[in-house]
Amino acid sequence: MEEEKEKFLKEFGKDYGYPNASKSIEEIRATEFKRLDGLVYLDHAGATLYSELQMEEVMKDLTSNVYGNPHSQGDMCSATSDCVEAARQLVLDYCNASSKDYKCIFTAGATAALKLVGEAFPWSSDSCFMYTMENHNSVLGIREYALGKKAAAFAIDIEEFEYRNGLSRSDASSIKISKRPVQRRNDMRSREEGEACQGNAYNLFAFPSECNFSGMKFSLDLVNIIKNDSERVLEGLPFCRGKWMVLIDAAKGCATQPPDLTKFPADFVVISFYKIFGYPTGLGALVVRAEAADLLKKTYFSGGTVAASIADIDFVRRRKGIEASFEDGSQSFLSIASIRHGFKIVNNLTVSAIVKHTTSLTTYVRNKLLTLKHGNGTGICILYGGDTQKMSSHKFGPTIAFNLIRQDGSWFGYREVEKLASLSGIQLRTGCFCNPGACSKQLGLSHLDLLSNVEAGHVCWDDNDILHGKPTGAVRISFGYMSTYEDAEKFVSFVINSFVSMPSLATNGRLSEINNTFSSSRGIYLKSITVYPIKSCAGFSVDSWPLSSAGLQHDREWLLKSTSGEILTQKKAPEMCLVSTFIDLTQGILVVESPRCEMKLKIILEKDPYYGKKQNVELRSKRYGVLIYDNEVNIWLSNAIGRPCNLIRSCAPENQSYANRKEIVDKDMENKLNFVNEAQFLLISEGSVSDLNNRLRSNEHKSQCVQPIDSLRFRPNLVISGAEPYAEDHWRTLNIGTEKFTSLGGCNRCQMINLDQRTGQATTLKEPLATLASFRRVKGKILFGVLLRYDNADKVGRLKDGEKLLLQVGQRVYQTG
Ligand SMILES: *Cc1c(COP(=O)(O)O)cnc(C)c1O
Repeated sequence: MEEEKEKFLKEFGKDYGYPNASKSIEEIRATEFKRLDGLVYLDHAGATLYSELQMEEVMKDLTSNVYGNPHSQGDMCSATSDCVEAARQLVLDYCNASSKDYKCIFTAGATAALKLVGEAFPWSSDSCFMYTMENHNSVLGIREYALGKKAAAFAIDIEEFEYRNGLSRSDASSIKISKRPVQRRNDMRSREEGEACQGNAYNLFAFPSECNFSGMKFSLDLVNIIKNDSERVLEGLPFCRGKWMVLIDAAKGCATQPPDLTKFPADFVVISFYKIFGYPTGLGALVVRAEAADLLKKTYFSGGTVAASIADIDFVRRRKGIEASFEDGSQSFLSIASIRHGFKIVNNLTVSAIVKHTTSLTTYVRNKLLTLKHGNGTGICILYGGDTQKMSSHKFGPTIAFNLIRQDGSWFGYREVEKLASLSGIQLRTGCFCNPGACSKQLGLSHLDLLSNVEAGHVCWDDNDILHGKPTGAVRISFGYMSTYEDAEKFVSFVINSFVSMPSLATNGRLSEINNTFSSSRGIYLKSITVYPIKSCAGFSVDSWPLSSAGLQHDREWLLKSTSGEILTQKKAPEMCLVSTFIDLTQGILVVESPRCEMKLKIILEKDPYYGKKQNVELRSKRYGVLIYDNEVNIWLSNAIGRPCNLIRSCAPENQSYANRKEIVDKDMENKLNFVNEAQFLLISEGSVSDLNNRLRSNEHKSQCVQPIDSLRFRPNLVISGAEPYAEDHWRTLNIGTEKFTSLGGCNRCQMINLDQRTGQATTLKEPLATLASFRRVKGKILFGVLLRYDNADKVGRLKDGEKLLLQVGQRVYQTG
């Protein structure tokens, strides 16, 4: 590790860590980002982090100054106005824009600034909106305004071109622009291919200074090329001849490299402050060239943008001044007052040092990822954003987008990467990052692929990370000014430890087979039986228990619903594990206890006193006929778990033994399950648990001491003893005593197994899930224990009154298939 860092510093030492600033990167992290201790935050393209010092200064400022509404009169208000004006100047300075040529309009964010341009742009039916494929959804949305005014809209690809500093106008032809199909609505007038637009229409070209998907930087020379040389560059394309205006989406790029508007005089630049220094959110700016602002026509007027209006006739006089005519309502003046504390930090470090610092980390990780190989010599990582090996680091912002590949050539789903990263305390982002064009281009998805993915139900934020064998998105890491070598190194180690297959260890993508002999003189037998009457609450263990056709009798027959109708589980309400349950079959009661309630709650199974109200509910898109309970019961349980909830009971036929059950039971009781998620039984083997504990122990040098995990941590119904670790994985059918069961495969585990069931507390170590993730992953799932279905359910129906089919502790368990 030390050696690695030395190597890194040898290569990047002059760029890394702010050698000329008053604080080193280590000091910055130790004093201003104490809250990051132990965490690796790599989503600065999503939002960067504010410094703790910055927030102290913001608090000091707001608590010691009186800021009134800047639109009011009076000293306090003019103090606010001064502050707002100073803030505008800071923004202009940041973009090297002269206040003569440019104005800073504050908006609710970069998106609001983009919407403002779209709404107020002087579109005509001869206009055209042209944008690079790589653009944020918030830019793409502008085309709705353009199309609405019958203008044309085009997406273009800007091919790689030789990048030379200060590319002159004569070099413009080295930019190849290739047309994408015109975006046009069926109901829109269609323009003939090749028909050029006439006259004096205004056109808009939009591109990001840095792609928020891949980190690829676009040359800002595009501003001058399109503004001055559009006829030549766009020659042969049915693009309009009118006047071109250029918009730079600098929301991402601004964090480490604001555009120089003196050199590249774009008409519109949008930025967001949380992307630069983390705070405040909900505030952005439109930096607009004064001449361009004069062309904008805003429809809406409001307090803030109106000088005078008359309520009952069509009269309005708008305010003069660019800022005043575009900032509707009262400005977000307290947020605006806060930005100077952010700029102070960034300006002290200097943007040029920030870009060097973050680039050094990005280049280091890029190079590392490209050299990683599986045991069989195949590469593990596909980086997005051009031929990354050929391209130099100055063409990339501090962002890396990639997908990982298994040794056999199949993809690791990005959700799997995300889930495992989270277990390792690494925050990264996955998906398409609101940039569908970059996503489809980089991933090579055709329109047909995209549409069929949508048909298959894929939406931006879901879990369908691989469809038809192709990834639907990517993994993205991004660095901020306070990122460190240690962050980068932890990420690289994470990729190596979790995804690289070693030749000798068959641990990746397959369950490992372990040959330690696990002999037992008794053979394999049933060690314990546990029933969980209320889903996600504590269960109780018994020596023998009756089987029903839905599993163990009364197992997960009840559940707690939040008042909004959501099923409560320990994921949401960890306190549920402190609610203990017991069913006394001879008395016919369910007893519920909680350390938070003095009295026990008793629910009579047969002639349930609260019984009588039947409802149909839809849970996880299945319909259930359920019984609901009186308020008294719900209040007791709400106290027990510390949040409002309602108890409901499944009324599947087999749960009811009263005579009139046919009337109360829905016809469509397709579910032979109670309120379980996947299967009737979960079986855990002691052998597997003991192997897991061995691994946890051998991990101890990495972390603090991990307490051995008990089988009941996994909330099994059945625990078996005497089997070799993971033998159960290979069983297709089995017998417990005389009863037959079929395995439905492994149980996919989640964070819930990290909760200590006695306390409801999770360890900070994310164990045992983190360790399980290192060797029990199959296709993105972390498997432990097997799910069973009872195969002799028909026998239950044939039982005479009073007869029971029992499972008993001590019964022999054996594989039958
Ligand atoms: C974040 C981002 C946006 C959206 O900015 P908001 O302030 O969240 O509206 C737009 N474009 C790019 C490139 C971004 O990174």
